Amino acid sequence: MKRLSWGMVGGGEGSQIGPAHRMGAMADGHFTLAAGALDHNPEAGRAYAQTLGIAEDRAYGDWKEMLKGEKDRPDRIDLVTVATPNSTHYEITKAFLDAGFHVLCEKPMTMTVEEGEDIVRTVRASGKVCAVNYAYSAYPMIRHMRHMVDAGDLGAIRTVVANFSHGHHAAGDDADNPRVRWRYDPAQAGVSGQMADCGIHALHLASFIAGDEVEKLSADFASTVSGRVLEDDAMVNFRTAKGTVGRLWTSTIALGRQHGLDIQIFGEKGGLRWASEQPNQVYWSPLGGRTQIIEKGEAGISDMAARLSRVPIAHPEGFPLAVANIYVDLAAAIHAQKSGEALDPVANHFPKAEDGLRSMAAVYASVESAKQKGAWVDARPPMFR
Ligand code: NAD
Repeated sequence: MKRLSWGMVGGGEGSQIGPAHRMGAMADGHFTLAAGALDHNPEAGRAYAQTLGIAEDRAYGDWKEMLKGEKDRPDRIDLVTVATPNSTHYEITKAFLDAGFHVLCEKPMTMTVEEGEDIVRTVRASGKVCAVNYAYSAYPMIRHMRHMVDAGDLGAIRTVVANFSHGHHAAGDDADNPRVRWRYDPAQAGVSGQMADCGIHALHLASFIAGDEVEKLSADFASTVSGRVLEDDAMVNFRTAKGTVGRLWTSTIALGRQHGLDIQIFGEKGGLRWASEQPNQVYWSPLGGRTQIIEKGEAGISDMAARLSRVPIAHPEGFPLAVANIYVDLAAAIHAQKSGEALDPVANHFPKAEDGLRSMAAVYASVESAKQKGAWVDARPPMFR
C-alpha cells in the first residue's frame, strides 16, 4: 500500500501524548509525517516540526495556518491528528473535516454533547473517516475478547465491571500544582474531572468488548481532596441497550493502583478478565471449567488480534503500539475510500466519532445523576434516542 501523508496539531515537544502518536503512526510504514502545527507557541512549534523532519513550508505556526496551507496542495495530508488540550478539539476537528480531511481526534472528542452531535453530523455529511483515540480498545487481546463475545463463547453477557482508578493525584498538598489543578477546575476542564478524563476510556472499553451501548446510568461523584470542585472519584452503575448490568469505578486518589485500568466481563457461559498492566494475557473462566490464560501470539488466536500483533509470544508490545493499531485501521479505512473498495470488516473496529459522542453523553448524564443523588438518567445522546 502507498504511504499516506499525515499531519499533527498539538503533540509538541515535551507533550505527554505526542510521542505515542508519532511512534504509532510511523510504526508500520503507513504514514509519513508531512505537516504540523505542534505547539501553542508558534515559534516553538515551527522549530520542533523541523527537527522531526517536516519541511520548513509545512512547519506551521498554528492550526489555521496549517489548514490554509494544506487545503489546496496537490500533495496535501490525508489524515490529521488533533492532540491539543481538550477545549480545542471540537473547533479544530470540525474545521479539518469541513475541509475534507480525515481526522483522528484525542479524547474527549468535544466538551459538550451538542458539539459531539455536530461532529457526528459533519462526519456523516462529509463521508470522511473520523476516529477518537480510545487506544486501549486496539490492544490485540481486547480485540480478541470482542471476538470471543461475537463468537458466542460467553453466551449472553450479564455483567461488566470496569475500573480506571489510579493514585496519582492523591496528595492533598498537590492542590496548587498547575499540572493537577486545571483538571478539577470547571473553567478549564468543563463539567467533569476524572469521569471525562479516564472514566470514558473504561466505559468505552466496556461497550466495545460487549458490543453494546450504555443506555442509562446512576452516578455517585466525590471530590475527596479538599479544595477540588470537580470529582476525583466516581462510581457509576449503568445498564446497556441489551440489558447488561454495568459497574464503573474511576478515581485519581487510589494510592497503590498505578495505571489502574482493568475490566471483567461475565456471560452466562464464562467470564473474561484483562488489565492494562498485563496487556498480553486474558483470563478465561468457562462455566464449570478451570481458569485459563490466553496469551497474545499463541496458536489459535483470532485474526482480529493476530493482525495487530508484531512481536513473538510473551514479548510485550505496549501502549504506543496500541496507538499504532488505531493507525493501522485508519490506513485501511483511508485506502478503502481512495480505491473505492469495501473496507475489510476486521479493520472497522477503530473508535469513531459516534463513540466520542456517546462518551460525552455519558459524562453529562453522570454529572446530572450525581447532582440528583444517583437518580437514573438516560445516557444516550439525543440524536440516538
Ligand atoms: P500536554 O499539555 O502534555 O501537550 C499538549 C500539546 O499541545 C503541547 O505541545 C502544546 O504546546 C500543544 N498545544 C496546545 N494548544 C495548541 C494549539 N492551539 N495548537 C497547537 N498546539 C497546541 O497534553 P497531553 O497530555 O499530551 O494531552 C493532549 C490531549 O491528549 C488531551 O486531550 C488529552 O486528554 C489526550 N490524551 C489522551 C490519552 C489517551 O490515552 N488517548 C493519553 C494522554 C492524553
